[in-house]
Amino acid sequence: MPLHGKAVWDRLEETVGIRPQFVGPGESGEVSRFKLAETGMTTEQAYQIVHDELMLDGNARLNLATFVTTWMEPQADRLMAECAAKNMVDKDEYPQTAELELRCVNILADLWNAPGQAVGCSTTGSSEACMLAGMALTRQWRVRRRSAGRPADRPNLVMGVNVQVCWEKFCRYWDVEPRLVPLAPGRTHLTADQAVRHCDDNTIGVVAILGSTFDGTYEPVGDIAAALDHLTASGGPDIPMHVDAASGGFIAPFLDPDLVWDFRLPRVQSINASGHKYGLVYPGVGWVLWRDSHALPDDLVFHVDYLGGSMPTFSLNFSRPGAQVVAQYYTFLRLGRDGFRQVQQASRDTARWLADQIGELDAFDLVSDGSGIPAFAFRMAGGMAGLAADSAGPSVFDVSDLLRMRGWLVPAYRFPADLTDLAVLRVVVRNGFSRDLAGLFLADLQKINERLTAGRPALPIIPPDTRGAGFHH
Ligand SMILES: *Cc1c(COP(=O)(O)O)cnc(C)c1O
Repeated sequence: MPLHGKAVWDRLEETVGIRPQFVGPGESGEVSRFKLAETGMTTEQAYQIVHDELMLDGNARLNLATFVTTWMEPQADRLMAECAAKNMVDKDEYPQTAELELRCVNILADLWNAPGQAVGCSTTGSSEACMLAGMALTRQWRVRRRSAGRPADRPNLVMGVNVQVCWEKFCRYWDVEPRLVPLAPGRTHLTADQAVRHCDDNTIGVVAILGSTFDGTYEPVGDIAAALDHLTASGGPDIPMHVDAASGGFIAPFLDPDLVWDFRLPRVQSINASGHKYGLVYPGVGWVLWRDSHALPDDLVFHVDYLGGSMPTFSLNFSRPGAQVVAQYYTFLRLGRDGFRQVQQASRDTARWLADQIGELDAFDLVSDGSGIPAFAFRMAGGMAGLAADSAGPSVFDVSDLLRMRGWLVPAYRFPADLTDLAVLRVVVRNGFSRDLAGLFLADLQKINERLTAGRPALPIIPPDTRGAGFHH
């Protein structure tokens, strides 16, 4: 009697131990996606199903939207896999991982020119780092106010409206008034006079961003510090600064050594950076450092048992992966100062080159040129209309859609107040986005430019194997 369907395969599996992929139980039917199934499946099946679904994600290497590392060396991959099971918080069980964290803090303190004994820690990213820095500023301000016998119930934080969302989160979560300094035509980030104008006795600090996420430009940290010095000297409040160097903290020390933005400025109390951005590590690791132990109030620090002794910790999370911290130490050892300089210079060179080329295209105008962090923004050229979705011409949002058809992920967005008429596309150049890839990207953008400037409707770009077939001249 012949066997049919599933029975055939059951029999085959019994006798010769084979079962073709994609037809086993749990695989050939519907997968239970939102409810735990009664029974599981084999490792191969589970892997294949999850792996296949993720093919629908964008390609991380073509993601020009993110600042986060999308390529690491195979040796780093191996180290991270080896450390996947290590919990950063288990200082007693993994004392060497804790030691590597400490070494990274020391390396960063040196890189950011801390004058004495800086203190700091790793975090899950800059967001957590900024929360910790903001909490320290609030605590310091409260202590100052109370010891002066003044009310300490209405703290505010001064920053450009172009801050990353983590600062608005910090303000909402910890009940601090966000003083968001608006932008203006020709001014896409915070300036010194604007910062000072928004400060008062209740200001816990001023945040300056080294590498604005909107256009990659550096805020003038030194000028802001000087203006705050002047404010204090003329009888005003003495307001500390925090530098959000999420991206720039790993760029400026190597490419702009003469730019004074870090602990060389006495007013800078704390600095954060994302190890998983230009620190060249996969997500998620961040860093926050205070210039010395006076800048970090004692009562925020908890002490955990560590090799029979006690280890200070300051964090929001308890458990957290150790692999990223290990990988950060690996990148420091592997590259050294010279290696970092070469990697970041290559990214800046590619960003500057690509920005120059895009600036040449009739359809677009540059908003920034990649000379801050290796990222830049561009908009539709003056005569091209196309700012708002409701205006007649093609918009940056259309260009973003057209690029996506080729796999390029390039975000289009509006600037915040008072620059909401400015809509841009932004390209982030990272290690792994080679000059050659940038050339391929440019070729696609040039095709879009041709269509836009010829006044034809913007059609999808034609895939390479059928190139030419769909163009109607
Ligand atoms: C990315 C970024 C953040 C948030 O950092 P995460 O590491 O993603 O949490 C904060 N500030 C700036 C300026 C950033 O670029």
